[in-house]
Amino acid sequence: MPALDQQHLVIDSHVDSSLTDNIKVDPKVDPNSKLIELFIEAPEMQRELKTKATLLRDFTDVQYYTDGSLQRDPTSLDSMGLGWVNVNQETVCFSASAILWPSSTKAEILACLAALIVSAPKAQVTLFTNSAATIAGFDNLNRLMQQSVRKREKTPNFQIWMTMDYIIRELDLNVIMIKVKAHNGDRLNDRADTLAKDAAFHAPRLNLNYLALPELALGLTCDNLTVETSSRRCIKQLFEAKSFYDTLQLQRHADLETLTSQQHINWSSTSFMLNHNTSENDRASTSFRQHKLRAFKYKLFSDELPTLVRFKIRRPDLYPEDACLNCQRQPETQTHLWSCTSHQAKWRHILNQAADLCYHIFQQHNQRTLPTKEAVLQLIHESRTFIAKGIMSQRCFNFVHTHIHSETTTHMVIAQVYNFVYRQVFNNI
Ligand SMILES: [Zn+2]
Repeated sequence: MPALDQQHLVIDSHVDSSLTDNIKVDPKVDPNSKLIELFIEAPEMQRELKTKATLLRDFTDVQYYTDGSLQRDPTSLDSMGLGWVNVNQETVCFSASAILWPSSTKAEILACLAALIVSAPKAQVTLFTNSAATIAGFDNLNRLMQQSVRKREKTPNFQIWMTMDYIIRELDLNVIMIKVKAHNGDRLNDRADTLAKDAAFHAPRLNLNYLALPELALGLTCDNLTVETSSRRCIKQLFEAKSFYDTLQLQRHADLETLTSQQHINWSSTSFMLNHNTSENDRASTSFRQHKLRAFKYKLFSDELPTLVRFKIRRPDLYPEDACLNCQRQPETQTHLWSCTSHQAKWRHILNQAADLCYHIFQQHNQRTLPTKEAVLQLIHESRTFIAKGIMSQRCFNFVHTHIHSETTTHMVIAQVYNFVYRQVFNNI
């Protein structure tokens, strides 16, 4: 029955044509749009980047100034801003913001990625950047892609690097990065710098969909946030944070918890100080002297110094009395050790000596912005309650940090002064 067959065919072809109408397959799919849709999450940002890609479509030799900026925000989340300015067409520029695992390098790499994703296929791309770390990471890209997942994971921002590598391969770009000096007076470099700085807190967020990468089979999320760092390190840090939180919840640390929530304690510096035991005369880290100092600091920190009150609780048969032997007025608690009237003169003397030492160290490290001797003396005396608890105040850290710019050196200076005080207290009180 030929008539029926023919009718059948007509129906089939009709179905076919309606399908193709819906999909609208363009024989030459624009590879930039494809990548933008694949990796960029926000639809508005997709549209913006597609427009830039269209504007730059005809440039086979394309150049950008890129910049990233990290803006600290002590009250909330640190934010990163990133931006690029196109050299071929200066009106074409882009900026965005990003958060989480903030670093100036991450901001810079994202800026480079945002420039590459709009570059025309097969183009020769030159990126001018002031970030040496980004250039080093880019030079290492081939090696990174050959590493095992486990090894690759340890490289900071590995997902962004992998995305960048994928974009370069898909668009068949030839990319070179050139180091420029920051604030060198170059007009476009300065514009990229301003774009990035202004973007940090105001521009729309650039979120990348890493799972779109064929090479990345698994993404780790925590509270719906993609973990953009080594999974091992992240889990370790989470558990450390949890145990730190649990420690703070202990009754003996109630005051520490209050101080922490009011941001009065600098914990990284406190931890450095508690563990820093070497001195000029004693560089080995395992001598008895240092072991004693370390034990003293930890006992002080956890309110476990061997005071009479503690002895009385432990061995009431041997220690029936817990009154301070020096003043006979109050029970000898750890707090009383510092406030006992009979120690006040010695304690003041030790703090004065510590202030001298601190000032002397400032002189060694710094020529320009030296604080006055009175200011240092006041700082040390005002820090006495913190010193007595084995913790570091945020105020003390900030004071030293404004005069000694390196953070590591700041930790070291404060630890030296604290260690001096503890050694004196240990030997004299
Ligand atoms: Zn006393």
